[in-house]
Amino acid sequence: MSNDKRIVTIKDLTLGGGSSVAVQSMSNHSLLQTELLICQIQALAKKGAHLVRFSVRNHNEADNIRTVVDSTSLPLCADIHFDYTLALRAIESGISKIRINPGNIGSEKGVRAVVDAAKQHGIAIRVGVNGGSVDRSRYTGAEEAVLVESALDHVRILERYGFYNTVISIKSSDVLTTIAANRLLAAKSSYPVHIGLTEAGYGYKAFIKSSIALGALLMEDIGDTIRVSITGDPLQEIDVAYEILRSVKKIDYGINIVSCPTCGRTDTQIDLEKLAQSIDSSVTETYLSEFREKRKIINIAVMGCEVNGPGEAAGADIGVAGCGRGRFALFNKGVICKKLDQDEVIDAILGMVKEYLSR
Ligand code: SF4
Repeated sequence: MSNDKRIVTIKDLTLGGGSSVAVQSMSNHSLLQTELLICQIQALAKKGAHLVRFSVRNHNEADNIRTVVDSTSLPLCADIHFDYTLALRAIESGISKIRINPGNIGSEKGVRAVVDAAKQHGIAIRVGVNGGSVDRSRYTGAEEAVLVESALDHVRILERYGFYNTVISIKSSDVLTTIAANRLLAAKSSYPVHIGLTEAGYGYKAFIKSSIALGALLMEDIGDTIRVSITGDPLQEIDVAYEILRSVKKIDYGINIVSCPTCGRTDTQIDLEKLAQSIDSSVTETYLSEFREKRKIINIAVMGCEVNGPGEAAGADIGVAGCGRGRFALFNKGVICKKLDQDEVIDAILGMVKEYLSR
């Protein structure tokens, strides 16, 4: 986050001007699957999404925008390609942001109508390009320069009509191009930036590529809102986004799990991976909102042995380490305080977290 950015408002969400980095995702349901779309938006909001985007492909779908908008307090973004009349429908239906490139609308009348409606309703517009959507007959040079100039041309069109509540995004499926293009954009523009790696792939491949691209940019204070694109359930995008933000210290709350890789000293009767996941999900489900409200962060260690575990995880606030025959030692700041059976571990950890929160 950079504090010399223009400030953009999207309903009650603020981007730029030193605001926290916002987390967003996109629904994979269509507006015709209205109930599924609403449920998914609510689930994303519960996980911590600050904004959710969905596609609007035709007027039949646009009929349902109002129902979706009315179902949540979350700011929503309508993703529209080319047809400005759909943008007008979305704005009239209470949307907080539209994604449309004015250079693709095709008529001055259309651009003016969208900008006038956006101003009147106080909504934001996201413009931008990804590697696959640039008109390469118009731009030449290094890939990052092509992407930036193409995006800035859309911004300039909006500026000609006096519109500035704009967020820019430039994405590529290539990690290094995404980093280079966003660095160049940050040097040339003061608008808030939406960062993400497009078509990042599935599972661990998407996690790694997105973490490198977004992590590198965030460490340079580039990026006001992020989306981690993953093939599959969008709910996982929120988990990964927060893990990235926590890793680069862009958020100051939450639950950080530290667990060892295990080795020959691990008690053979325990499944440490499963235990780490259970502790993470139990603590997150029970206390995440309290950590968020109190702006607190806790480091919880889950270690394979009591000989080295507490020492290796001395930086953790609390932890648990295997100590033979399915038994576990609880430790506090590296000091063992109690021993117990595996089926008592989750409750004991939840108790320690509660005590930590009350301090
Ligand atoms: S904590 Fe113990 S089990 Fe885990 S890696 Fe270290 S020595 Fe091995």
